[in-house]
Amino acid sequence: MADRQHAAIRNVGFIGLGIMGRSMAGHLMDAGFSLHVFNRTREKAAPLVERGATWHDTVADLAQACDAVVTIVGYPIDVRQVYLDETGLVAHARPGTLLIDMTTSNPSLARLIADAAAARGLAALDAPVSGGDVGAREATLAIMVGGEETAFARAMPLFQAMGKTIRLLGPAGSGQHAKMVNQIVIAGTIMGVAEGMAYAQRSGLDPAAVLEVIGTGAAGGSQLNKLGPRMVAGDFDPGFYIHHFIKDMGIALEEAAAMGLDLPALALSKSRYDELSGLGYGSDGTQALLRLYRDDPGV
Ligand code: NAP
Repeated sequence: MADRQHAAIRNVGFIGLGIMGRSMAGHLMDAGFSLHVFNRTREKAAPLVERGATWHDTVADLAQACDAVVTIVGYPIDVRQVYLDETGLVAHARPGTLLIDMTTSNPSLARLIADAAAARGLAALDAPVSGGDVGAREATLAIMVGGEETAFARAMPLFQAMGKTIRLLGPAGSGQHAKMVNQIVIAGTIMGVAEGMAYAQRSGLDPAAVLEVIGTGAAGGSQLNKLGPRMVAGDFDPGFYIHHFIKDMGIALEEAAAMGLDLPALALSKSRYDELSGLGYGSDGTQALLRLYRDDPGV
C-alpha cells in the first residue's frame, strides 16, 4: 500500500464528461496518461473513446483499473453518490489510489470524503477550478486544492496537464472554501457587468466599442472581457450554467451564515439568478443575467 501511495500515476480514471470534464480529460490523454472514463450519459464519452480511452460500465469497475481518479460532476449529491455509495469510489478503489474531486461542492462533504478515503488507505483531494469552459479547453485553469501535502505532490502532474495556477490552500475542504471566495467575487462582478451592458445598450452607445475601451481600463477583468461580448451578442449559450451558479451561491451563503457572516451582495445576486431560473432560463450561461434588464427577458 505504501508503495502505491508513492508510485507514479499511469492509469487515470475520469468521471464527469460535461462542459469542463471533456476538455480536462482530453488534456490528460495529451499528457500521456492512460485514460479510463465513465459518465452518466455514455454518449458524451465517445470522442475520448475514439481517441483511445477505455470506457467502464460502472464507477466500481473504473476504480479497480486506476492509480488515480479525477471527478468533475454536477452537484454535491452527485459527488456523494460517486464517492460514498456502496458502488462508489471509496468502497472500490484499490488501496493507495489517489482520488481528486474537481466539482464545485461543499467543504464539509470534501472533509467527509477525505476521512472515509483515509480509513481505506486512499488519499483524497478537493480541487475545484476556475477559468470556465475556455480555461478548461486551453488548459489554463486555476486549481485550488485542499488535502495532504504528499497527495498534492503526487497529483501535480495531473494538475499541470489541466491548469496553470495550482495552489494547496490547507487541509481537506480548503479548496472548496477558496472556490466559494471565487464565486462570491463573481456574484457581485457579473451583476456589475450586466448592469453596465444594459446601460450601454439603453443609452444608444455601441456596446462593442464601449467594451473594447473599458475592457482595457480599470473595469477590465475576466467576467467583463469574456462574458460582456457574449451579452451584447445575445449569446446566452452555457459556458457556466445558471443552475450550477445558483448551487454555488447557495453553498457560499450557507457557509457564510455558519460563520456569522452577512454577505448582502451575494444574497442579492442569488435572488436575481433564482428569478431568472424561475422564468425557465436555468440552463442558460451566467451571462444571461442581461435578460432581466430587457423589457422582455425572452427576446
Ligand atoms: P456539466 O456539463 O453538467 O457536466 C457534468 C457532467 O457530470 C455531466 O456530463 C454529467 O452527466 C456528469 N455526471 C453528473 N452526475 C454524475 C454521476 N453521478 N455519475 C457520472 N456522471 C455524472 O457541468 P460542467 O459545466 O462541466 O460543470 C461541472 C462542475 O464544475 C460543476 O460543479 C460546476 O459548478 C463546476 N464548474 C463549472 C465551470 C464552467 O464554467 N462550466 C467552471 C468551474 C467549475 P450527464 O452527461 O448525464 O449530464
